[in-house]
Amino acid sequence: MSETNQRSDLRKLPSVNALLQTPDGIDYVEDYGHDLTVAAIRQVLGNIRKKVGAEQGTIPLPELIMQDVLAYLQLWTNPTLEPVINATGVILHTNLGRAPLSTDTINAVQKIVQGYSTLEYDLEEGERGSRYLHAENLLTRITGAEAGLVVNNNASALLLILSALSYRRRTLISRTQLIEIGGGFRIPDVMTQSGAVLEEIGTTNRVHIEDYQRAIEEEPVKLVMRVHRSNFKLMGFTAEPALEEITAVAHAAGLPVVDDLGSGCFLDTADYGLAHEMTVMESLAAGSDLVCFSGDKLLGGPQAGIIVGRKVLVDRLRKHPVARAVRADKMALSGLAATLMHYLKGEAERKIPIWQMISMNPDIIRSRAEQWARMLRGSRVVEGESAVGGGSLPGEMLPTYLVSIPVSQPDQFLKRLRQSRPPIIARVENDNVMVDPRSVLPQQEGALLVGLQNAISRWGN
Ligand SMILES: *Cc1c(COP(=O)(O)O)cnc(C)c1O
Repeated sequence: MSETNQRSDLRKLPSVNALLQTPDGIDYVEDYGHDLTVAAIRQVLGNIRKKVGAEQGTIPLPELIMQDVLAYLQLWTNPTLEPVINATGVILHTNLGRAPLSTDTINAVQKIVQGYSTLEYDLEEGERGSRYLHAENLLTRITGAEAGLVVNNNASALLLILSALSYRRRTLISRTQLIEIGGGFRIPDVMTQSGAVLEEIGTTNRVHIEDYQRAIEEEPVKLVMRVHRSNFKLMGFTAEPALEEITAVAHAAGLPVVDDLGSGCFLDTADYGLAHEMTVMESLAAGSDLVCFSGDKLLGGPQAGIIVGRKVLVDRLRKHPVARAVRADKMALSGLAATLMHYLKGEAERKIPIWQMISMNPDIIRSRAEQWARMLRGSRVVEGESAVGGGSLPGEMLPTYLVSIPVSQPDQFLKRLRQSRPPIIARVENDNVMVDPRSVLPQQEGALLVGLQNAISRWGN
């Protein structure tokens, strides 16, 4: 420390106004606005006062002060929601935003959100229309259901269905289906929130049609619920009646059956080398009165909760106050309609990114991986597996080819990749960093290779 006492030192601290008048100050106000710039200057001046007061520093030059100010401005305005490159091979990665959207879907959303629209306007009559109509026609045409309704997401679809149809009434559900989806989201909790009274039947591993029968006969029941086990398999000494048997028993007692399919698939996953996942149409054919599912899982569209089924029931849902609380916005509705159009036209596999990834030819993945490996020092191509993910098709893998990058401290290297811009998300297997071409969007390939090359050259094994 110099001999100067701190008090006289602190008097040399430039004022907020003086800093605002510097060339940097003028630039920052232009870029970040007056108030935010002032807040950042105050923050930095405060830091300096503390340090100097504690005899841990001297007053920096104004240019250096303004460098700190810029660092704060950048920190405060840095978007926390930003694009990343998904090189994990998990196609529906819930933490990475589930389904990337098709080009037509993106264009449709953009067209609607940049101006006014017929969201709730009837052009024919020149008066108020319904937001529900936009996706309903497509849903009924594709699934053959009598009616359809779109809400915010599948969890809210469940909440709406149970609030409207079995509030304070006994609702049957098998113990084999009381699942936790992820992020602490538990089906029984959502069901309880709706006010429905859960009546659990069967055991953790086995439930029989007689369990349903007995529960229905013992006391009045309002609704029978079935929940798809999205993220685990029931294996070993297990039993569950077919959906047809459940609907037959329920219908004989005049009760509706609601099937929460979770993922909601319109295509046959068995055509892609995966286990067969019950489709929405199959659930309806098996007698489900309402089927609900997500828009952004195997459907490959925007976040939404989709309900299809009998018109009398859907009409009741639409009129319930919860419907308003969980309604879908114009971005979701316009995007969903565009994604549904791909199914209607039979072009889902060609146009929807997640189906392009699921159906990707292994030879194409291999040649992409080989091309990348030639550009990444020390790497080679190995066989591996991709996952569909997103709480669908548990344990089902797709054969793939990975670029294996041998590095020291692979977990540290993953961290380094997350720091590149755009961040790259990869995985470690057998102590090597693995990159799966399957989940990398074609337009991100260039950025991925540049990011990997930079990281490898700076790692210096
Ligand atoms: C994923 C899932 C949900 C929740 O759907 P969101 O669209 O994420 O709200 C509900 N039920 C099942 C069976 C699921 O797999």
